[in-house]
Amino acid sequence: MPGGEFKKLGYRLVDDIAEFIETIGSRKVTPGETPEEVAAALGSRPLPEDGIPAGELLERAGELMFGHSLFNAHPSFMGYITGAPAPIGALGDLLASSVNPNAGAQILSPVATEIEKQTVAWLAELIGLPEGYGGLLVSGGNMANMTAFLAARMARAPESYRKKGICSGGHMTLYCSKATHTWLEKSAALFGHGTDAIRWIPTGQGSRIDMDAFESTVAEDKRKGHTPLFAVGNAGDVSTGAVDDLEAMATICVKHNIWFHVDGAYGMPAAALPEMADMFRGTELADSVALDPHKWLYNPLEAGCTLVKDPGHLRAAFSTHPDYYNFDAQEGSRPVNFFEYGLQNSRGFRALKVWLALQQAGRNGYREMIREDIRLAALLYQKADDHPELEAMTHNLSIATFRYVPEGMDTGSLNRLNESIVNALQRDGRVFVSNALVDGKYCLRACIVNFRTGEDDIDRVIGQAVEKGRVLSR
Ligand SMILES: *Cc1c(COP(=O)(O)O)cnc(C)c1O
Repeated sequence: MPGGEFKKLGYRLVDDIAEFIETIGSRKVTPGETPEEVAAALGSRPLPEDGIPAGELLERAGELMFGHSLFNAHPSFMGYITGAPAPIGALGDLLASSVNPNAGAQILSPVATEIEKQTVAWLAELIGLPEGYGGLLVSGGNMANMTAFLAARMARAPESYRKKGICSGGHMTLYCSKATHTWLEKSAALFGHGTDAIRWIPTGQGSRIDMDAFESTVAEDKRKGHTPLFAVGNAGDVSTGAVDDLEAMATICVKHNIWFHVDGAYGMPAAALPEMADMFRGTELADSVALDPHKWLYNPLEAGCTLVKDPGHLRAAFSTHPDYYNFDAQEGSRPVNFFEYGLQNSRGFRALKVWLALQQAGRNGYREMIREDIRLAALLYQKADDHPELEAMTHNLSIATFRYVPEGMDTGSLNRLNESIVNALQRDGRVFVSNALVDGKYCLRACIVNFRTGEDDIDRVIGQAVEKGRVLSR
């Protein structure tokens, strides 16, 4: 592509993106099309034999993206947990992919490596971890958690494990509450433990892990000769945002030599708020922490982060030294080569967008945005509570759950009704909420990780839920 064309097409694309961002609130969150409708819009054709002009392609790509997407940047998008992307992140990604450093090895990404180190240090500082934690950026929460899990296993599994494999270590057991995200199940299955190795500890008050049940399960496993290896504390569980008693959990883990991991993929950024210090106390005792800048730090996908108290455990798990690499410095100190800290070898420059956004907003900017998301979730809970046809269920951090409750309906019918309300809302596309099961009750769930969401969006969710509820319960 000649330089003049790159400029012309680039400016045009930036104009279109700017217009998209400006007008996002006046669009629908999603067109709610079926996969068939979307496929029809795309059209099927074979791979082109000959090239097509770039301008034509970009224009078509813009039409498809702006016309047939779900916009998680939309102020009324409150489903699942995907942060609204900060525009500076989009610009950062453009810069990153244009220079295209390979952030696997320092020699291939001199300044990108330094920026990633600084970004990781800032993330640890933002959430209040003491000095010394280190880690790397990964693709998201699943990878951040799994990376920590693999480091933990290398660090705490019996000696024979590295050479002889998983069976040589006896039965290693894993602990988490029933509210824990599916990544642990996936890890147990994929990494050879089997899902039976997981002890799903019941939750007590407010969906938090039952500490007595946790400790007695550990004791029972030890009696049976198992090796308690790894425990997960939730810093904002994926469903209702509950934060476990991390300090109490850490104490039990220290006592039994269990690696204590905090899954903060969703909620960890709220630890930046001074008023939340009590809720997150104990994070600073964790052996590892996962967080997800593409959730509540408003970065575009993908960005997750693994932080480990002793980053040497990451190197111990992931470092290899093939003879075709010449990555250790001839002079100066030994460089950080991020391929030695995680699963990836070649790595994109994810850190740039995170580094830019952290500075553009600053600690105070983030505090304000996160605090506002929490306030709006509380407001939604309150409005549901005040409404005669709604029942407010939970509010933790920036997640509120509630359901539609017409008079004289049994639990089963209420569950089916609320499920159909969620489906109808998602198809309609003016607002977007997801679902949660709270004590067996099917609820509408709104998670606000969006600096554009305002009180009018909260009113819209309430209004739409009631409107759909009335129609569907008729
Ligand atoms: C979202 C989430 C994950 C998974 O993160 P991805 O970025 O979707 O891979 C793991 N744990 C918790 C608590 C989460 O909220």
